[in-house]
Amino acid sequence: MAFTRATGKHRAPGRLTRTGAKAVGIATLATTGVIGGLASPALAADTGTPAVGDTGLTQVIAIENVLAERIDAQADAQQHQADVAEKKAEAKAAAKKKAEAKKKAEAKAKAAAKAKAKAKAKAARAEEARESAVRAARSAERTRLGSFQLPVAGSYVSTGYKSSGSMWSSGSHSGIDFHAASGSSVVAVGAGTVVEAGWGGAYGNNIVLRMTDGTYTQYGHLSSIGVSVGQSVGAGRQIGLSGSTGNSTGPHLHFEARTTPSYGSDMDPVAYLRAHGVSV
Ligand SMILES: [Zn+2]
Repeated sequence: MAFTRATGKHRAPGRLTRTGAKAVGIATLATTGVIGGLASPALAADTGTPAVGDTGLTQVIAIENVLAERIDAQADAQQHQADVAEKKAEAKAAAKKKAEAKKKAEAKAKAAAKAKAKAKAKAARAEEARESAVRAARSAERTRLGSFQLPVAGSYVSTGYKSSGSMWSSGSHSGIDFHAASGSSVVAVGAGTVVEAGWGGAYGNNIVLRMTDGTYTQYGHLSSIGVSVGQSVGAGRQIGLSGSTGNSTGPHLHFEARTTPSYGSDMDPVAYLRAHGVSV
């Protein structure tokens, strides 16, 4: 009982398995690139020149070439897509840059316009301030020219207008007398020009001014005269000192308001001063 079926049975499948494995191996080889090598003798018989170049290897290479071409084409397509995408991105970036530049330019223009408006407003303010200053100066000048005052500061009328008395040639007082100690400051009651400055007979040392409104004022019995003919004087400008020269009974200022520079054209001096805003 050296052999048993069991044993043989065991061995037979073993050989079969090996043979099968070998066959599978060939089959496997047949499906791979080596197939060409195995098939070549038959192909070579047709051409008579079994060159390696005509074998299945060439087909493999050709397949590989096709694949490579496809890959290349694909790569080209991908490259094209990439190029298109890049160009798109570039165009987008350029558009963005352009938009930003436009925005920047607009902002710049806006700022420039704003600055211009600001400068204009500043210039307008400066002009307004200048005009205001001119107006103020003119107003001050008008006030200065227009502000009449007493010929002797803080004084009062000691002898009224048209008072009768033997000492006046006309029989009545042609002006008013202001109380004033000798040497008191005598000022122009308003702005004007000196038309007479000197000895005036009964008036003693006297001054006549032509006022800016065309009327005249006269100052008599002065102890001294401080202005000369043709000189312009402002309101309140000292023109001389009071005294008692000429036909006078004592120190005082004789004051007249006239329509002309001459004696006899007198008008009410109190009314005249009051009409010019002076309290008397
Ligand atoms: Zn008098």
